[in-house]
Amino acid sequence: MKPRVGFFDFASCEGCQLTVLNLENELLDLVELMEIVEFREISSAHGEELDIAFVEGSICRPEDVKRLRAIRARSRQLIALGACADTAGINALTSDRPVAELVREVYGDKGEAFLVAGRPRPLEAFVPVDGRVPGCPIDGGEFLTVLQALLIGRTPELPTFAVCAECKLRELPCTFERDVICLGPITRAGCNAHCIAEGDRCRGCRGMVDAPRSGPYYRILEEYGLSEEQIRDELRLYNLGGEAKK
Ligand code: SF4
Ligand code: SF4
Repeated sequence: MKPRVGFFDFASCEGCQLTVLNLENELLDLVELMEIVEFREISSAHGEELDIAFVEGSICRPEDVKRLRAIRARSRQLIALGACADTAGINALTSDRPVAELVREVYGDKGEAFLVAGRPRPLEAFVPVDGRVPGCPIDGGEFLTVLQALLIGRTPELPTFAVCAECKLRELPCTFERDVICLGPITRAGCNAHCIAEGDRCRGCRGMVDAPRSGPYYRILEEYGLSEEQIRDELRLYNLGGEAKK
């Protein structure tokens, strides 16, 4: 019997699921090896027991927690798909303002129904997570690597080194030399230093490496006259939810 796979979403822009759907050609090959039993964006079918559940989005409401636990209960493996699910991603930016204030700003006086939404949390705050596909959005190639590993019963491995190393391998000029703060030294590699290659900086969308080497980073900050405070501010965009994992 083929492994049964499902895709689920909570609070998110669904960009990570769209990245999966954009892999049309590769997915068509993989469909030979698995059975997609649930994927709201392409089908209204529902399945029961699952071998692999890919879950996108952050958990905000009590009913989200209930639904997530039900998905966990019927899935042999549960994988966080994208930053919203893995670290609460940009959703966590709402954490430092009162919900009522945010709802009023977006919906005016018609936002009563949204007031039940709480602080966005990553999946891991509520259920055990067996793996992750990091990034905002995820990288399609990395998703396929993770999926292939799971389909043959292997534990998917993510890079344990930082984006900085990929930047050096591509011989890109260091972002700090432009007097611009970059989170490359502490962010998990795997995107091939995408944003830096495009002339931007790393904003940390793939989350932090497991054991960030703060010593060398502090030396870089010192060399370029930057403060820890500036880095903390930069980390807010994608990594505020790291604290919410606890
Ligand atoms: S991680 Fe980014 S692209 Fe993926 S669902 Fe969240 S906001 Fe969208
Ligand atoms: S360079 Fe940084 S922000 Fe850009 S994709 Fe890679 S991890 Fe994400």
